[in-house]
Amino acid sequence: HYNFCAGPAALPTRVLERAREELLDYQGRGLSVMEMSHRSREFVAIAEVAEANLRSLLNVPNDYRVLFLQGGASTQFAMLPYNLLGHGGTPNYLYTGIWGKKAIAEARHLGGAHVAASSEANGLTAVPRPGDIELSDDAAYLHYTANETIGGLAFDYIPDTGLPLACDMSSSVLSGPLDVSRFGVIYAGAQKNIGPAGLTLVIVRDDLLDRARPDTPTMFNYRVMAENGSMFNTPPTYAWYLAGLVFEWLKNDIGGLAAMDAINERKAAKLYQAIDASDFYSNPIAPANRSRMNVPFVLADESLNATFLSEADEAGLLNLKGHRSVGGMRASLYNAVPEAAVDALVDFMDDFEKRRG
Ligand code: PLP
Repeated sequence: HYNFCAGPAALPTRVLERAREELLDYQGRGLSVMEMSHRSREFVAIAEVAEANLRSLLNVPNDYRVLFLQGGASTQFAMLPYNLLGHGGTPNYLYTGIWGKKAIAEARHLGGAHVAASSEANGLTAVPRPGDIELSDDAAYLHYTANETIGGLAFDYIPDTGLPLACDMSSSVLSGPLDVSRFGVIYAGAQKNIGPAGLTLVIVRDDLLDRARPDTPTMFNYRVMAENGSMFNTPPTYAWYLAGLVFEWLKNDIGGLAAMDAINERKAAKLYQAIDASDFYSNPIAPANRSRMNVPFVLADESLNATFLSEADEAGLLNLKGHRSVGGMRASLYNAVPEAAVDALVDFMDDFEKRRG
C-alpha cells in the first residue's frame, strides 16, 4: 500500500520498524521512550541528538534557536504576531491560499494585518511576483506560506524585503536544501515531513527573541521556550523521538537534503507529466509554482470521482481524495512516499483513463 495522505502523512518504513524494535525497551533501559521523564539523561540525549541532526541537515546557523513545541502550525499563526509585535508595527502577509488566510485571520485577531500581495486575482494559481509586494509603511515582518498544501501552490523564490521574514513551511520543510539565514522565523507542523502530529518545529533567529508583546502568554513565548530547551512544560516526548528517527533516516538512509531534493523532483515531475500528457486529468497551477509535495488534480468527468477513488483504494493507493474545500484528487508526495508509489499511481491513472476515459 502507498499512502498519499496530506497529513498526518506516511512515515518512512525504516523509522516505524525502528520505533517498533524500541517500543517496549529503549536501548536496554527496560522502559519505552513514552514512559521516560523528559528530564532524564536518556531523553535529554534523544532531544539533543534530534536537534543536532536537524541543524546539520538544514545547516542551521548558530544564531538560530530550534524549538520543539506543541499546538501545530495553527498555534504559530498566533504565536508569531505575539512574539514579533512587541515593538509595534503592522504585520504584513502574502496571501496565496487557505493556510495563509488562517494566519492572516489570527494576526487580525491580535490587532491587524496588511496583505502585501495576494493570489486572489488569479484564483490562487500563481504566487505574487517580487515586484507585486506592497509593504505597509510600518511593516514589522513579512509572512508567507512556502507551500499551500490544499491548493498545491508553492513559492519558487524567497521574498527579500529587508524585513524579518516568517514562513509557514509545514508542508515543504526538509523536502530539499534551504538557506535558513534568509528567514527570521520558520515554523512547521510535524505531521508531514517531520514526524507524527503533536510536534511543531520552530526555527527563530536570536535577535527576534526580545520583541514579544507584554501580554504574550508564557507558553507562547519563543524566548521562554528557547531558554528552557523547549521543556518549560512537558514536551511531546514520543513525537520528538520519532522526529529524531526521521532526521537520522534523512541523513543516513537518504544521504541528506540534496539527495532528498533530487528524489522529490523526480517524483513530482513524473506525476505532473502524466497529468499534462492527458486530457482526462488536469492541474490548474502555473508551472513555476506547482507544488512538489501536494499535487491536486481533477478528472475531466467529475462524475467518475467516486469510482476513481474507490478503485485506487482497492489498488492500494490510499488517501487520494482532494481537500473537502476544493474537491477532486490530491496526491501528497512527501519525503516518505517512495518513487515506486508515484510509478504505481501513474500506471493506475493511465489504466483508469483507458478503461473509463
Ligand atoms: N499550514 C500549512 C501549510 C498546512 O498544510 C497545515 C496543515 O495541513 C497547517 C498550517 C495547519 O497545521 P496544524 O494542523 O499543525 O495546525
